[in-house]
Amino acid sequence: MASVQLEPHTGSGRSQAVARKVLPAGCVIVSSPALATALLPQEKGKRCDTCYRILPLHRCTGCAAYWYCSTDCQTTQWQLHHKRICKRFAQYTSSVAFQALASHEKMDALLLSHLVAQFTDANDDRLTHVTCLLPGPAEISLPPLACSPRISDSLVKDLYSRFGNNNFVIHSHLSGVGHGVFPLASRLFNHSCLPNAAAKYRLSASNMPIMEVVALRDISPGEEICLPYLDPALLQTRQQIFRLTYGFECHCLSCLFVERVGRIPEPPPDERDRKDLARRLKQFMEATPHDGLTLSNDPASFPSDLLAIFHESFITYAAETFRNASHDGPYSTAFDWGESLGHLYRLIYPPNYPQIGMHLLELAKTYWNSIVAQHLDSGGEENEVKQHCRSHLKHAKENLQILGAEGDDDGPLIEIQTLETLLQDA
Ligand SMILES: [Zn+2]
Ligand SMILES: [Zn+2]
Ligand SMILES: [Zn+2]
Repeated sequence: MASVQLEPHTGSGRSQAVARKVLPAGCVIVSSPALATALLPQEKGKRCDTCYRILPLHRCTGCAAYWYCSTDCQTTQWQLHHKRICKRFAQYTSSVAFQALASHEKMDALLLSHLVAQFTDANDDRLTHVTCLLPGPAEISLPPLACSPRISDSLVKDLYSRFGNNNFVIHSHLSGVGHGVFPLASRLFNHSCLPNAAAKYRLSASNMPIMEVVALRDISPGEEICLPYLDPALLQTRQQIFRLTYGFECHCLSCLFVERVGRIPEPPPDERDRKDLARRLKQFMEATPHDGLTLSNDPASFPSDLLAIFHESFITYAAETFRNASHDGPYSTAFDWGESLGHLYRLIYPPNYPQIGMHLLELAKTYWNSIVAQHLDSGGEENEVKQHCRSHLKHAKENLQILGAEGDDDGPLIEIQTLETLLQDA
């Protein structure tokens, strides 16, 4: 905390976390322990319910619905909340009230149960760490709980009103595995669509996942430190989500750009025209020095016939076409759309944003797979493919090393090492 101080935010009742000294790219600014977490349904039985690691697990014999990697993890969670939930869990999850919930409401109900079961005293510090956060703007109605609360209903409601706009998705290698309450991180960091920091999660024996907030670039003293509350690539819908779920409007440079553009034009329906749009994006990016962020510039300097690339449907289309072709071919399609998506990400995301690195790694893997699949032995083409593979791998490494090791033990940094070795020998 010595590196950060809270100051009032100009023009609002919120506060902001400001760097007190230079925070170099890659440094951990703050570690925020979880107060409560809940695994996503598809991760249940695969990860330990306490520490989230993927290990051989044993099942709680009481409810047969929670899994642990060790007696330590089981005891920790038992003391924390499970002893108040275990016995009634089967009845709870099969109840009409629980079954009627949408899947995201079920997640909230479980997380709230894990949280509420811990408290006996309205003055518990851990409880006030949550109730001191700003509540969300929406009216809420309490979901059914897996335990009978020992604090008042109004306090439970108070806690729940902080969920929608404060909770975090816990992820490993950028893929969500659970939801968590991290009061310290919620209190400190405001949102930006061009954030200078990102959250990663550390998994360790007998502990709940710990959030670490990492500087994505060098941050100067006096600069506000911001996290992305949602994927900045939701260019059209994000402002509405901020208003409805979070109760604020974002005035970052990227939002200013989108506001000045007004309505983002629909991308052409025809596949060939979309390909042409992607080709023009490539030309534009290759001709534009983009050491700065294009999306933070004036839209007047951005070609208006390219604006449709920011339509969410175009970004989804580019991502899906790349993914499908990189699995099933043809490789030429995967390369074209993979390169276009890389350009798009560099426009939308701030420098060193991990999504860019993850994509470049996928693209490098696709180039490598094409080398293996085609056994190219004729000089020219293979060299060019190899060069692309090498250069994307290098940029992926530079990017992902900043966030550093996170989540499960395997993952992108290990994959990069493996591919580097293969390329050396190739
Ligand atoms: Zn464990
Ligand atoms: Zn149990
Ligand atoms: Zn914004």
